Amino acid sequence: MAPRGAVTPTDDRPVEGMNEGHPVFRVRGTMALRLGRMVTIPILLAGGLLAGPLWGGVSVAQVLAVAAVAGAAAMLVGSRFADDRCSEPRCNHRLRPEDTVCPRCGGTVAGVIDHPQQRLEALERIEREGWTARTGERGEDAEPARPR
Ligand SMILES: [Zn+2]
Repeated sequence: MAPRGAVTPTDDRPVEGMNEGHPVFRVRGTMALRLGRMVTIPILLAGGLLAGPLWGGVSVAQVLAVAAVAGAAAMLVGSRFADDRCSEPRCNHRLRPEDTVCPRCGGTVAGVIDHPQQRLEALERIEREGWTARTGERGEDAEPARPR
C-alpha cells in the first residue's frame, strides 16, 4: 500500500474500466507465496502464544521449525497453481488463463511478463512494435525474458 501522501491526483479515477483500450500485461505468478503466508503466519502467531504467555509447553525453536516445514510444504503446493495478475499497479486483478481483457480495469492483455517491474519496459517494446488495442496482437518477443 502506498502511503496516503504518495497518491497523485490522477489516482482519483476508479480502477474499474480505467484501462479500456490500453495495454496491460499478464504478470505470471503462482500461489506459492500467498499460500506460504496463509499457512506460516497463523502458525507463528498461535505458536508464539503457546510458547509464551498461554502455555509455555513448546519452545520457540519448535514453533519456528513447524512453521518452516509447513510453510515450505504450502509453497510447494502453491507453486503448482497459477496466479497471474494484471500488471496495472492499481488493479492487480487475478487473470484467468483465457482472459484477454482484464475483468477489472478493462485493459487489453498485450503480453506476458514475469514481474510487475517489467511493465514499462514491455510497454515500450509493444509501442515500438505498433501495438493497438484493436488487434490486441502480441509482438514476437512478448514472451518474457527469463528472470536474471
Ligand atoms: Zn487490470
